[in-house]
Amino acid sequence: MNVNSSAENLRFDGKVVVVTGAGGGLGRAYALFFGSRGANVVVNDLGGSFKGEGNSTKAADVVVDEIEKAGGKAVANYDSVEFGDKIIETAVKTFGTVHILINNAGILRDIAFRNMKDDDWNLIMKVHVKGSYKCARAAWPIFRKQRYGRIINTASAAGLFGSFGQTNYAAAKLAMVGFSETLAKEGAKYNILCNAIAPIAASRMTETVMPPELLETLKPEWVVPLVAVLVHGSNEEESGGIFEVGGGHIAKLRWERSKGALLKTDSSLTPSALLKKWGDINDFSSCEYPNGPANFMELLELARGLGTNEQ
Ligand code: NAD
Repeated sequence: MNVNSSAENLRFDGKVVVVTGAGGGLGRAYALFFGSRGANVVVNDLGGSFKGEGNSTKAADVVVDEIEKAGGKAVANYDSVEFGDKIIETAVKTFGTVHILINNAGILRDIAFRNMKDDDWNLIMKVHVKGSYKCARAAWPIFRKQRYGRIINTASAAGLFGSFGQTNYAAAKLAMVGFSETLAKEGAKYNILCNAIAPIAASRMTETVMPPELLETLKPEWVVPLVAVLVHGSNEEESGGIFEVGGGHIAKLRWERSKGALLKTDSSLTPSALLKKWGDINDFSSCEYPNGPANFMELLELARGLGTNEQ
């Protein structure tokens, strides 16, 4: 990360940015920002309700209008993100390519797990997981060919930590983390960087569950600078990260592995042998921060032969 590029100077001239779900909330804030910084913006929005019902061209049109009135360049796209190839096609047909993809579109179908219907589950997976996949998949060959691509996937605290009544949404949002971590690895060679954010912002999604005084402190605009920094060309290395962002708070999260126990892999590896090591399994006092399965193999290599299954 080039820390010398001040945010005021971050421009996106000539860059083609696709923002999904850009008709309101966070997506609109991203789109307006990029439009004001010289980018060509594809404003995608299906224009339905926050539960994923209905559709309308208005949401995207209003934001395109706002960008153009402020002197920026934008085009509307009304497809559902599940048809991500059509959204990327709009970018290519209108502006020639795509450089930055902000997978932001989202809906909620909150319901206690005991009442969850297949439709509640499937629709959330379709919009968040399939939608992000389809957009990234369509942009990927273009990114590889031009050796330039930046992706933001939108996770959520619900996915990272769990949230009552949101099993469907939480599962989909944590999927965004694994998706991002893997795209970051596959894209590294081609200058394709991908990060996941878990935002918190006032929008129609949160206005019914948060008090007005709290919402006042959570303007979507305050999520924008992190996204801008991560997708800017001056970011050449920050990839595969998970960031929490909202209300002026920005932090990075990572995986933590406890000290753990290594048991001999013979008939002494029993539930009671494991229970005796429960303290070590839960001991985070000398933890590690793994970032891939390879580390786990190293861990086994290093520790092999050292395990003792005291009975
Ligand atoms: P929002 O409802 O204001 O915006 C979401 C937008 O996505 C809407 O304009 C909607 O029409 C659009 N959309 C929904 N389904 C679509 C589809 N199939 N295709 C295209 N567009 C579609 O909500 P927001 O709060 O701005 O949410 C933006 C993203 O941030 C979502 O992915 C959400 O899950 C995530 N998020 C938000 C918060 C928060 O505090 N607001 C917290 C965690 C995660």
